Amino acid sequence: MADRKVVIIGSGPAGLTAALYAARGNLHPLLVEGVEAGGQLMLTTMVENWPGVRDGIMGPDLMTEMRAQAERFGTEIVQGNVTRVDVAQRPFTVALGDGRACTTDALIVATGAAARWLEIGADRQLSGHGVSTCATCDGYFFRGKPIAVVGGGDSAMEEAIYLTKFASKVSVIHRRDALRASKIMQDKAFANPKIEFVWNAEVAGIEDVEKGEVTGVVIRDLTTNQRRRLPLDGVFIAIGHTPNTSLFRGQLQLDGNGYIVTHDGTRTSVPGVFAAGDVQDHVYRQAVTAAGSGCMAAIDAERYLEHMPDDAEAIGAPRHVEPVANPSASS
Ligand code: NAP
Repeated sequence: MADRKVVIIGSGPAGLTAALYAARGNLHPLLVEGVEAGGQLMLTTMVENWPGVRDGIMGPDLMTEMRAQAERFGTEIVQGNVTRVDVAQRPFTVALGDGRACTTDALIVATGAAARWLEIGADRQLSGHGVSTCATCDGYFFRGKPIAVVGGGDSAMEEAIYLTKFASKVSVIHRRDALRASKIMQDKAFANPKIEFVWNAEVAGIEDVEKGEVTGVVIRDLTTNQRRRLPLDGVFIAIGHTPNTSLFRGQLQLDGNGYIVTHDGTRTSVPGVFAAGDVQDHVYRQAVTAAGSGCMAAIDAERYLEHMPDDAEAIGAPRHVEPVANPSASS
């Protein structure tokens, strides 16, 4: 007999919405909140695209509300770093770094994805003060202002094109002389008169940490090694995301980019394990879509538990754990 019916790993919008629904379904969920409690919304300032909040809400405040709401209906929340998950044996095991562990009949994985940073110090220091990793979240703050997007992939093109709705000019800074983005996205970006490209360049510095706001970037030309300053008001870093799936490698089917593969809603390759939010979504990546899939995961888990065979063997062991090609890679 398992200690728990449902354990949820992750406390962003996906995990907390899954917890809310599971708690209201009388499943008495346990949610493990990691060191980055609240997820990526903790890194944003004003969230203006959360439906039903007309004047917007600060990201951390939204997460505080979601957490309190999940607790109000009976979610038990524990802080800890999950260091081991075993979904090959039933019931599943979730173990924390401090030695605590529990078993569960159903598991909801909502560990999210982390935006990659340049790791030049100033990018993290000015995060939320002119440096952002989310155009949809923060583009509105740069109305009429010059900004830069760093990266040459589909995300960078998508963000650059989106940001031209607000910014006076968008400089795409890319480390090579050719984009990685798909042809269609490249064509759209090249055709946009507000976008200019800075090729073969890296961002060597972001100013002004002392003032606590972005006033410009220092660009190093990678062919000549020359540096120059580009004055601007915002920097969007779009150099990819890394899904937080290292715990599941070899246990759940992941796609070519390491995202958990889901089918029929939020089901993973192991019956009884469900995935929600950015850990399984590299397309939408919005708080509201993450929350929606968290709701779906809780409903999927509830239905799974209702029909769970007494004989766990009958459910079967993990089947496909090999990475598969990412279907969006060719889009
Ligand atoms: P990506 O394809 O991995 O592109 C990352 C970009 O950032 C590359 O241009 C890379 O340069 C650059 N980069 C990486 N590390 C860097 C660093 N430290 N400094 C400077 N530049 C760096 O990531 P993505 O754009 O987020 O896309 C991820 C996946 O989602 C892809 O499969 C993509 O097709 C898909 N996606 C699809 C859509 C769409 O279809 N609408 C939208 C977004 C994402 P290099 O080119 O030199 O490696």
